[in-house]
Amino acid sequence: MSDPRALKTSSEVSVRLAAEPRGNNLGQCQDCGACLSRCPLGESVPEMNPRKFLHLVRNGFDDLALASRFVWTCTLCNRCTHDCPTGILMEEVVRAARGVLSSRGELPKPLALGITSRLETGSVSEVPKEEYIEHAEWMAEELGMELDDPSITFPMDQPGARYLYLPNPRELTVNPGIFSANLKILHLLGEPWTLSSACSDVTNWGYFTGDDEAARKILSQVVEAGEKLGIETLVVTECGHGYKSYTYDAERWLGRPLPFRVEVISRLAAQGIEAGTLKVDPSKNPGLHTYHDPCNMGRKADLLDPPRVIMNAAVSEFVELSPNRMESLCCGGGGGVDRVPESHDVRNQVGGLKIDQIKRSGADIVVTGCLSCQSTLGALAQHHKHKLKILTLGQTVANALV
Ligand code: SF4
Ligand code: SF4
Repeated sequence: MSDPRALKTSSEVSVRLAAEPRGNNLGQCQDCGACLSRCPLGESVPEMNPRKFLHLVRNGFDDLALASRFVWTCTLCNRCTHDCPTGILMEEVVRAARGVLSSRGELPKPLALGITSRLETGSVSEVPKEEYIEHAEWMAEELGMELDDPSITFPMDQPGARYLYLPNPRELTVNPGIFSANLKILHLLGEPWTLSSACSDVTNWGYFTGDDEAARKILSQVVEAGEKLGIETLVVTECGHGYKSYTYDAERWLGRPLPFRVEVISRLAAQGIEAGTLKVDPSKNPGLHTYHDPCNMGRKADLLDPPRVIMNAAVSEFVELSPNRMESLCCGGGGGVDRVPESHDVRNQVGGLKIDQIKRSGADIVVTGCLSCQSTLGALAQHHKHKLKILTLGQTVANALV
């Protein structure tokens, strides 16, 4: 008997979609329109209509679907299909479309270049191994000066360590303060941890491009390094798609279970605060703060309570955005959109909703749990001429440490 969930088309996109393990049942769409009513993209730019895109794919109109600007402006945030009555996942549908473009060599240039760099050098930003090691040594020296303890070093390639920390390249280039904050947290947690000279990049742009083979190769670089060191847990930085990929997609890409647990630094920090290992003084973070739930961390990977533990303990005044948690509005730059300059006009328009939401909260300091959201929020604040200070959860904790 044929699968009643299958699409009545053999178009390239639907064949890719059929291979996805979940949320691929576009043939069951009831045309209820809930996805359209919940999409911030469609709300601010009416021609970006998720239901229309789903219709094109469902009816096999690949050419129209693939030529649509929607493919590279949808942020894969899944807010639209969070309450889909049939469990369709927009992220899977758009990734299937992007996968076809990827197989034809029609990716946006920055994404194509980033994937090549990552596969060839191990770093999407081409940070050389020697530079990574030097960077870690510099951070250890800085912490040694701060804590008046010159004996502090950060372990590199330490076999048998419990935790392996994996940063985002932004920590090694434009934002070393985040690297410093997260390494300080790991140092003070007191568990055996290490960095690996073989892997310094949490990102996996195969997720953005729907290229599962590239995703598998990128993932394998990290898995091999973790296996070699015999770690118990891979601790990833606050990278939304990175954490979500390791927790929800990695096993499928790899074709076997991951040989280690995966955790995110912000949850470890929240646990450290609750256990009293990390002592924080909220007066060290003065002013009214709010928290932006990144889609990948919150809605998709259920990291909702630990950020509130941090916000309630480490800042002097905290106000929630509305809506928040599972209903959070995307910043507009997720799903690789931030890396596609041709989509920035739309991103800035969609992000206006986020800036308005922040303005309504009254806060002028926004904390978020994703470096990509942090970068997008900075660009949006500049575009909409709204003065904001934007911190990660790790920076917030590190600022407040006693
Ligand atoms: S919410 Fe789900 S069932 Fe309703 S129109 Fe959108 S995809 Fe179809
Ligand atoms: S931008 Fe988000 S809410 Fe809109 S269609 Fe894409 S995944 Fe759905």
